[in-house]
Amino acid sequence: MFTEHYAHWIDGRPSPINPSARIERLSPAHDVLVATYAAGTVAETEKAIAAARRAFDHGPWPSLPGADRAAVLQRTAALIRENAEALARIETLESGKPIGQARDEMAWAAGIWDYAAALARTLHGDSTNTIGSNQLGFTLKEPVGVVALITPWNFPLLIVSQKLPFALAAGCTCVVKPSEFTSGTTLRLARLLQEAGLPDGVCNVVTGYGEPVGRVLAEHREVDKVSFTGSTAVGRKIVAASHGNLKRVALELGGKNPQVIFPDADLDAAADAVVFGIYFNAGECCNSGSRVLLHRAIADSFLERVAARARTLPVGDPLDERTKMGAIVNEAQFDRILDCIASGTREGARLLLGGKRLGSGPGRFIEPTIFTDVTASMRIAREEIFGPVLSALCFDTTDEAIRLANSTAYGLSAAVWTRDVDRMLTCARGIRAGTIWGNTIMEGGCELPFGGYGQSGIGRELGPDALEPFTETKTVMLHLGPRKNLWHQPPDSAS
Ligand code: NAD
Repeated sequence: MFTEHYAHWIDGRPSPINPSARIERLSPAHDVLVATYAAGTVAETEKAIAAARRAFDHGPWPSLPGADRAAVLQRTAALIRENAEALARIETLESGKPIGQARDEMAWAAGIWDYAAALARTLHGDSTNTIGSNQLGFTLKEPVGVVALITPWNFPLLIVSQKLPFALAAGCTCVVKPSEFTSGTTLRLARLLQEAGLPDGVCNVVTGYGEPVGRVLAEHREVDKVSFTGSTAVGRKIVAASHGNLKRVALELGGKNPQVIFPDADLDAAADAVVFGIYFNAGECCNSGSRVLLHRAIADSFLERVAARARTLPVGDPLDERTKMGAIVNEAQFDRILDCIASGTREGARLLLGGKRLGSGPGRFIEPTIFTDVTASMRIAREEIFGPVLSALCFDTTDEAIRLANSTAYGLSAAVWTRDVDRMLTCARGIRAGTIWGNTIMEGGCELPFGGYGQSGIGRELGPDALEPFTETKTVMLHLGPRKNLWHQPPDSAS
């Protein structure tokens, strides 16, 4: 293991930084220094915004043919694939996620860049030919301008890849602020973009903390849009900070996602999915299926199946190819998870599995944990824990299952397990969430839109309309032939 020292990336080059203002990143699994990043200042953030502004106002990126922008995105996809092993290793060392999973995420991210390239060539306006024989209207799709992209630590390259290629495809220029815990792959990506032919200043990366870097991006009048993925609490701050110039705001926030299990489901497959749904990325996942809602008739036997699988889950060194669950990202998150577990016991839930720190060596690991006898009002049923903690609740009827599913402030995703098509569709319609999985979880591709209801966010990413939020629609209205004078009558016609 060796330490990487990164600078900001502004206007096509590493930007000189103050060596005393560095953020040190220790691998959460090994407690070894793996990276240092610049702790960005107000001036550095403003320099990046100015570079993006120049690249937007003076071009050529916003006015290039879609095919030319698509070519850059496709080359970037290829470069991500070529560098996948190095990128995956950076993510594992900085975030604690298993190396096998990190490799899958690099492949997934590359696929999104290819998809965005296809959309870059299909972006178009519309025409209206039905407003009168002497009138013709049409719309132009134009890039929204300078976009700030603020991302979290749980899927660093994947989440920036849900935003950046679509912003670029639309012709926007960007300033990206990755998480202060996992900035490495975003900075690498900026270099790959240059290698792929992206003009200087079109994509800038400023590292550092939410205060001041994120705040300045959200407030700044030269930024036209902010696209944020992270916690609901910070999402609220972004909305407040963005008021000054009424910038466009897109938010992808937290979740407390239910996995609803009916007795007629393939219970073996459902148990496997429940284990995956909660312990994938150690539960540090916005889509984490952290509440399992069980029909009372199968609750105990089903939880036995889940617990049996969870007990044998390989937890440990994320560099070990066999590991399925790695380390918890940082001390604050680790403490918060243990605090939530303590609250579960205090409020009367029954600990069926886990609940403790795992191991006594370096790094921070938590046992796969299951609570049963949970009620909807308990903290572990309402709050996003963002850790490997599953809360089991019971229901008797489909209506009750839907009510329970909707009993939190969030609405990101839900999984429903039943072979009964009526019941499946009733749940799909009744549950207020941006994504409903039927007899599966976390499946599907970037062709499908993603985003949240309620406090899980504003707007959608991915899918065929993924460029739309990075555009403005301009209406052009043409009058054909002579236009009748409606207001001003010539003096000689007045008599
Ligand atoms: P976070 O909200 O703490 O931080 C996210 C980003 O915002 C970081 O880059 C951080 O530096 C920055 N930030 C912090 N304060 C800021 C401020 N005042 N102004 C502007 N930026 C600021 O989130 P996190 O801990 O990095 O990530 C975990 C959260 O992200 C969870 O709540 C999770 O559900 C959510 N998440 C959502 C999705 C989704 O697609 N819905 C995906 C992944 C993660």
